Amino acid sequence: MSELLLSTWTFATIANAAAWPALQAGGGALDAVVAGATAIEDDETVDCVGVGGTPDADGVVALDACVMTDPNRCGAVADIRHYPNPTAIARRVMEKTIHVMLVGEGAEQFAAREGFQKRTLLTEAARQRWLKWRQEHGPNDPNGYRGWVPPPNIEHAAHQSTEPGDPPSHDTVSLLARDRAGTLAGACSTSGMAFKVPGRVGDSPIIGHGVYVDQRAGAAAATGNGELIMGVCGSFLVVELMRQGAGPQDACAEVLRRIAERFELERNHQVAFIAIASQARGGAWASAALRPGFVHVISDERGTRVEPPHFTLLKS
Ligand code: ASP
Repeated sequence: MSELLLSTWTFATIANAAAWPALQAGGGALDAVVAGATAIEDDETVDCVGVGGTPDADGVVALDACVMTDPNRCGAVADIRHYPNPTAIARRVMEKTIHVMLVGEGAEQFAAREGFQKRTLLTEAARQRWLKWRQEHGPNDPNGYRGWVPPPNIEHAAHQSTEPGDPPSHDTVSLLARDRAGTLAGACSTSGMAFKVPGRVGDSPIIGHGVYVDQRAGAAAATGNGELIMGVCGSFLVVELMRQGAGPQDACAEVLRRIAERFELERNHQVAFIAIASQARGGAWASAALRPGFVHVISDERGTRVEPPHFTLLKS
């Protein structure tokens, strides 16, 4: 099977640039997704993953991540406040413990024991975004923590032509890779929803929500409003539909339809999935989004491209 690296949002070009050469040269799928996520976590200019991520309502950056290669091989961490690379820590949880997920203080103690280095996650740029948000919509807002509503097109708002002073939004880097042996791997890393209620964890680090991989059926990963994705076990459901015979595009589209049917969608709600079918199921890949604005980054034998999704459910 030919190698493939598929990831979410324009900033994932950083991830693909870091991970694709080794994958193309015969490296493993798990190494590729961890290397890609790590490159973004270390890039301070990306305002929603790793160092430079947007903080919670108290001004604290709290990171979530997971990795997965099969139902019996997955690892996750949440609420990481002092270590810049949650994806690598999640991999270590998978490889070195009998558990799947560690959170908060325990996860940080584990990271320290494993030799990960602490780093201040809140950059001055992120602090300024938080100060502005707090002034306009902080806990004194009569609507409370729910007061700030992200703008409709989260890709535009967070990463493209952000006007000075625009509030940032929430995105995630989700990555799926297939290596030369046909093995699939997935990873997801995020600072979560901007200005979230402290303690909030979204879909991203939760196996079956942010990422799901089953070598027998395929791999899927999500980005967007975690609360919507969690309501339908989004990534698990995409893979399950592929197991039942759907192609990756139809599987992603069906899960988006399920979300649209079961939630009262607000204009700012966005969800997108990326998916790769297993080798046994033909190996096709696809992406799909609830609304316009989402893009994926694909690296394959034709090179690396930023492209719109194959399917968008709503017109705006
Ligand atoms: N899914 C992430 C979360 O809800 C954020 C995002 O992808 O925009 O934490």
